[in-house]
Amino acid sequence: MQVPLLDLKPQYATLKEELLKEIAEVCESQRFILGPKVEKLESEVAAYCGSGYAVGVTSGSDALIISLMVEGIKAGDEVITTPFTFFATAGAIVRVGATPVFVDIDPKTFNIDPAEIEKKITPRTRAIIPVHLFGQAADMDPIMEIARKHELIVIEDACQAIGAEYRGRRVGSIGDYGCFSFFPSKNLGCFGDGGMVTCNDPEKAKRLKIFRNHGQSGTYLHDFVGGNFRLDALQAAILSIKLRDLDKWSEARQRNAAEYRRLFADAKLDEKITLPAEATYPVRHIYNQFSILVADGRRDALRATLQEKGIGCAVYYPLSLHLQPCFSALGGRSGDCPVSERISGEILALPIYPESTSEQRAYVVETIAAFFR
Ligand SMILES: *Cc1c(COP(=O)(O)O)cnc(C)c1O
Repeated sequence: MQVPLLDLKPQYATLKEELLKEIAEVCESQRFILGPKVEKLESEVAAYCGSGYAVGVTSGSDALIISLMVEGIKAGDEVITTPFTFFATAGAIVRVGATPVFVDIDPKTFNIDPAEIEKKITPRTRAIIPVHLFGQAADMDPIMEIARKHELIVIEDACQAIGAEYRGRRVGSIGDYGCFSFFPSKNLGCFGDGGMVTCNDPEKAKRLKIFRNHGQSGTYLHDFVGGNFRLDALQAAILSIKLRDLDKWSEARQRNAAEYRRLFADAKLDEKITLPAEATYPVRHIYNQFSILVADGRRDALRATLQEKGIGCAVYYPLSLHLQPCFSALGGRSGDCPVSERISGEILALPIYPESTSEQRAYVVETIAAFFR
């Protein structure tokens, strides 16, 4: 049996006709940049996320960069974030000239540990970027409280978490900005790169729109230096159609996760591996990934066995960002973020995509059981 880590083809098959018709319509219009399709998607995503505004941008990475630019965060400023995330979170901070300051993670949720944040705040700190990793919300209440106390901007990296909730609120609507990615492997993916920034402040929304178009505030009048961060009409049109099915897909991922939990418990494997923990605060976890922990240095051997048996799996993320060679000038050392460092050696993502089958999950669990026998 083959179990890919992700297979986007069955999802495409269910929407193919409608998508191709919509793509043809955009081609007939020959309006490819911003325009009505992008505006339609923006109002749909704002409503879906419970945010006042949404601004379509070129990618999740650019969503982070433009949010930092709009706030004027620059060289000499510090931005607190997690070392256990996709590279772009910290990359964006460096791209605007600022300095990432890494705060270790909670070992259960893999998200930034709010109890560690205040120790890292200095007079140069300007913002906090919590990441809702794998589709589970970071603990936003204490993060927002610290931010208010120290007058810091909060930029939620919700790139893996569209539709996830924290205490009944959608991620991206809690901080000053919410950053989303429509990279194909996210729960809502387009046919290329795409992203979105949400916010509740009309002034911030206005500035985001100016900055995504080279800071142009009137015809060829530039108050700021922005960039080209414009979303394509084609991607927006595709996303509007796919957004209608997003909850169905995220619920299928939740069912698949629940089934894994039953199967692992039945096989008594919950003693050999650690299943992804649910947060102690109320969340809606959308399971962009289902990542287990394999202790005792056996992760890489299990990964090799699964791959040999036709099961897709991956390590997100094998190296804590404070130890990345490109950030060595920041002086990060091994031992600085011990939880993140340990987890990066134990973590392994298993197939969880909506259309994966019970038979496939049973095979994954049986193969892991055989590995430990
Ligand atoms: C995917 C992702 C990004 C970047 O999104 P792109 O659209 O690929 O640029 C940023 N942060 C996190 C946590 C992500 O998962």
